[in-house]
Amino acid sequence: MASKLSSSALFKKASGLIPGGVNSPVRSFKPYPFFTEYAKGSKLHDVDGNKYVDYCMAYGAIIFGHSHPPVLEAVKKQLESGTVYGTPTEAEVDLAQLITDHVPCADMVRLANTGAEATMHAIRLARGFTGKPKLLKFEGCYHGAHDSVLVKAGSGATTFGVPNSLGIPENTAKNTVVLPYNDIETLKQTAEDLGDDLAAIIVEPAIGNMGVILPSEAFLTELKRTAEKCRALLIFDEVITGFRLALGGAEEYYGVRPDIVTLGKVLGGGFPISAVVGKKKVMESFSPIGGVYEAGTFSGNPISVSAAIATLSELEKQRSRLYNNLEGSTSKLVKNLRELFTDKNLQVQINQVASMFTIFFTNTYVTDSKKALTSDKTKFNSFHQSLLRKGVFFPPSQFETCFVSSAHTEEDLEHTVEAVASALNEL
Ligand SMILES: *Cc1c(COP(=O)(O)O)cnc(C)c1O
Repeated sequence: MASKLSSSALFKKASGLIPGGVNSPVRSFKPYPFFTEYAKGSKLHDVDGNKYVDYCMAYGAIIFGHSHPPVLEAVKKQLESGTVYGTPTEAEVDLAQLITDHVPCADMVRLANTGAEATMHAIRLARGFTGKPKLLKFEGCYHGAHDSVLVKAGSGATTFGVPNSLGIPENTAKNTVVLPYNDIETLKQTAEDLGDDLAAIIVEPAIGNMGVILPSEAFLTELKRTAEKCRALLIFDEVITGFRLALGGAEEYYGVRPDIVTLGKVLGGGFPISAVVGKKKVMESFSPIGGVYEAGTFSGNPISVSAAIATLSELEKQRSRLYNNLEGSTSKLVKNLRELFTDKNLQVQINQVASMFTIFFTNTYVTDSKKALTSDKTKFNSFHQSLLRKGVFFPPSQFETCFVSSAHTEEDLEHTVEAVASALNEL
């Protein structure tokens, strides 16, 4: 059923009521974003009657496709019994069990609602546990919209040219040291300079928020070694990569064990939920048994928990084929896209890991944020617009990641290749 207002009219109205007309800046693009009416499987359907093969997938939150029946059923069933209790439930214990069964470094789990909350709590946990102040992060990595990590952050912060947000006290920012990704020499030097002050190293083990950027073989191992040497904790922010690269996330995919992992996005199957997980001796620093305070009215709420259990159970059941199939179909798509660009003599770099990929409009091999920034954003934007007209929705920024879900059909992928071929003729 078509809504009464068009996307254009809705955006005009929204702009008077919501800053920039959107509730998260990454959703904004010119001349105005389409407004979604409903989503099913691999498709978004907008209020103007268009449908799009979706590669944004709610910025990576969706792995089985939109409105996945087992998730909807679990949530409908839970709705009958109440939506939030303010008491513990058995389902929270079941979910914690499922997570610890599959995420290698997870002895214990604390649930929260969003990725930002999870990283905020993880950083406080690391500082509380080590009794030290400094945080090391990497350029282009995004860890949510809170003070200690909005320093040279990726995602919307890079897209809109404000990687350093206003409103962050200098005293907060000075405790965050930012280094280039994949640069082992600088890492070693800085760790030495920071000496005894380093509480934690936080990193996206494969970056998804500057577009896809992969870790060099030695980088993650070196992070682990550095953290150990400084008696600091290594935090893998797996809000994107958790349950996406493998059931055990990047930790399993790359075989490097951090001390703390943050999870979100895929975990909730489309509902807001996140988690801080890690080694027992670290996790027991959380209140009420330890001195690190962390809390949330909606943390572990039964709706999100039921969606998360349905999602993880399904991932567990399908894991032997699912991750191989996703990686296989994404690799095939990427190969076909590469050929199209080569045929047109257009220099791009396509980075891919598992079901994640980004087409960078640059001839520089992209291994860090500085190199990602050599991309031609104007070209990307017209490519993006052109794809929209052909019914393909890529996330609206050069510095975001395309996600393939298990709902993407052979036909969807073929349509995408055709759409890209025809978009390239318009560039
Ligand atoms: C999305 C994301 C976050 C923030 O999650 P929200 O749910 O948007 O707060 C943190 N870290 C990474 C790696 C992310 O991709």
